[in-house]
Amino acid sequence: MGKCWEEKCTKCGLCCHEKAVYGKKLVIDLDSWCEFFDPKTKQCTVYAERFTRCERCKKMTYLKAMFASYLPESCGYVAWARSHHLRFAKRRILQFIHSKNCPQEDSDDHLYKAFQA
Ligand code: SF4
Ligand code: SF4
Repeated sequence: MGKCWEEKCTKCGLCCHEKAVYGKKLVIDLDSWCEFFDPKTKQCTVYAERFTRCERCKKMTYLKAMFASYLPESCGYVAWARSHHLRFAKRRILQFIHSKNCPQEDSDDHLYKAFQA
């Protein structure tokens, strides 16, 4: 996998945010992101060393493009997999939440309520 594979990323930055799959929904928190993500530019600030600097950062592979449920339909890799009839994860409705606007109760509880909205 080389440059051509990496160029499929549209640099939307959505996969660098906190996210959860909840039934038929993929919920992405636009107020919470990886410590190395710059929300102004939507770029990774440690791109070249991202896999050594960030434990949670995982390389995009063919298998993830095909099966990973946490990637939005708009992701360039998902689009690639779908165009080759290789996308096997369910289509999920994308829902954005803003955790900073949620009531400051127990964090899981307020996310749960946001999912019900
Ligand atoms: S380290 Fe990985 S998850 Fe974090 S901002 Fe960079 S690309 Fe995104
Ligand atoms: S969701 Fe897909 S297109 Fe968007 S930044 Fe992540 S890998 Fe790139």
